[in-house]
Amino acid sequence: MTERQINIAFKEYTSVDELSEADKALCLEAVKALDTSHSPYSHFKVGAALQLKSGKVLRASNQENVAYPSGLCAERVALFNWGANHADDAVVTMAVTAQTNDFELLKPITSCGACLQVMAECEKMQNSPLRVLLYCINGPVWVVEGVQSFLPFLFFEDRLTH
Ligand SMILES: [Zn+2]
Repeated sequence: MTERQINIAFKEYTSVDELSEADKALCLEAVKALDTSHSPYSHFKVGAALQLKSGKVLRASNQENVAYPSGLCAERVALFNWGANHADDAVVTMAVTAQTNDFELLKPITSCGACLQVMAECEKMQNSPLRVLLYCINGPVWVVEGVQSFLPFLFFEDRLTH
């Protein structure tokens, strides 16, 4: 028996002001996207912003529904919009942030497993990694270089052939 370990790496910046101008601007686009959140049930707004290779920015937010499973996370709203309308323009970076009046957010929120799987599909479609900025307003920013950093055991078809 061999015990193995997988380490994942990400960068932590103490505030958005430590980021490059481009990354900071994208985090602020995610903040703007909070305004379009439809979250009357959780009171938990999530905003996402995609920076495309062309320079275009796409904003999205979480969209809840009275039939709870019918709602969708901001990340998937963003990436499905990209897939449907902009798939020829690669996603370079995605910024995600959250806001609620119910409690204080002290660290960035991280994406759910379903959103990570959709990010992985985006990387596969565009054949390039997707950087993710997880931004806590008034807190740190975590920068993750590609979905493999979140999901080291991600399912790939090539694993079937070995
Ligand atoms: Zn999600």
